[in-house]
Amino acid sequence: MKLWKSTLALAALGAIAASSQAADKPDGTRWWSHVRFLADDALEGRNTGTEGHRKAAAYVAEAFAKAGLKPAGTDGYFQPVSLHSTALDESQSSLSLVRNSGTETLTLGEDANIGVRVEPVPALDAELVFAGYGLSIPEADYDDFKGLDVRGKVVVYLSGPPPSIPGPLAAHMQSAHERARVLSHLGAIGLVAIANPKNMDIPWERSTLARLMPAMRLADPALDESHGQKITIAVNPALADKWLAGSGHTFTEILEAADAGKPLPHFPIPARLQVKAAVKRAAVESQNVAAVLPGTDPTLKDEYVVFSAHLDHLGVGKPIDGDSIYNGAMDNAAGIATMLEIATTLKESGTALRRSVLFVAVTGEEKGLLGSRYFATRPTVDARKIVADINVDMFLPLFPFKLLTVYGMHESDLGEDVVTVANGLGIASQPDPEPKRNLFIRSDQYSFIRVGVPSLALKLGFEKGSPEEKIAKEWLTKRYHAPSDDLDQPVDKQAAAEFDVLVAKLLERVANRDARPRWKDDSFFKRFAK
Ligand SMILES: [Zn+2]
Repeated sequence: MKLWKSTLALAALGAIAASSQAADKPDGTRWWSHVRFLADDALEGRNTGTEGHRKAAAYVAEAFAKAGLKPAGTDGYFQPVSLHSTALDESQSSLSLVRNSGTETLTLGEDANIGVRVEPVPALDAELVFAGYGLSIPEADYDDFKGLDVRGKVVVYLSGPPPSIPGPLAAHMQSAHERARVLSHLGAIGLVAIANPKNMDIPWERSTLARLMPAMRLADPALDESHGQKITIAVNPALADKWLAGSGHTFTEILEAADAGKPLPHFPIPARLQVKAAVKRAAVESQNVAAVLPGTDPTLKDEYVVFSAHLDHLGVGKPIDGDSIYNGAMDNAAGIATMLEIATTLKESGTALRRSVLFVAVTGEEKGLLGSRYFATRPTVDARKIVADINVDMFLPLFPFKLLTVYGMHESDLGEDVVTVANGLGIASQPDPEPKRNLFIRSDQYSFIRVGVPSLALKLGFEKGSPEEKIAKEWLTKRYHAPSDDLDQPVDKQAAAEFDVLVAKLLERVANRDARPRWKDDSFFKRFAK
């Protein structure tokens, strides 16, 4: 190696050889080196606002600088993001159901949990009403609140979409801010969500371990999305019948109706909800990291194709099998590694780009897409010039890359771009095969969609019933948001490298389009376009 570096000419030859080798037969070595740094125990799970996240942000900024990209933050490569954090003081909080027959005190952590993403009021006493899926979707002629008076009441509902509502529309209407907006409009003051066990990514037993972790909100009051809701509660589905007692309905009956695609019942619950909630608050500073690879077209270079991925993960939490560091190797050190790999290869290769490509590593995704919301609403470039967002979150390179799953495939003409690019690489593409999981609104592309930017999210796909499906499902059950999403797991680095090539080619294609991307005329999300 040292000999190779001894003359400039030889060094240049070496670089060319290395980069053409990287382009012809990428093996994922450099990609994995980024994952290794970011998911190392030393970074303690990169929780938003922690030293571990700051170290990760510094690493990303350094990699951008090394790749020769220009800073695109407000403070060099960084965009500071101010947050408020709220944690429940469970010892000072309680939840009970008050019936004529007496008061049933629920066990927090076991029966139900009080959410803190919307800050709960200190005390509340309210009527409860069960309202199906708790949704009102005029464009689909669907209304769970028809003939139901929810004013001053707390709405109990089954999580998940009603059948026959298209995936993206259903997903949007189920987002926290949209639910809060609709409920406030109807006069409801809070919500109680009962998960459908069939749609739970994380079993209750594991999700409840994280209940005392602080939730966060953007500090900027203009970006508050609680719409005045006073309480949010998540119910353990295994113990959901406690909430329905005396109503003449059971949770089994409701689940059976949901599974059969039948309408869900709507009924008053003969119990009052009494809540005491004490919280601990703190101010938190975190950061997005942004860099730009400038385009070359005299006019189009002022337009930006965003590549986003979240840098944060869950930090240190309740130990599982003796491990308390939630490393987030696949979620989403892998996506940031893809960003750094592409930033480096696009710059190295000197690929001609008409538009600029803006790389944004965002914070606060796990806290509710906060960093991307902040960037999308307070962008460091002219908001009107952001023409597309391509997001990569948990793309799961756990098996060979043969099929690409494209979230938002039929929503904008970016769908045609990605299919063309994938075909050129011999990769088949499919739209979201599991629209009920709402993945189109569950990562940072959604923050860009909400400000009108046509967006896609990409992952490795698999066929139904295939061994790959089994691997992905097992990963979700065992490692998703668990300490075992660490460096000690089987990863297909070759697949990751091939995925990186595809994303790079997609960015190149979108950057070089004549016209900026457009939502489809029949896309629900077109309404957000300015
Ligand atoms: Zn996650």
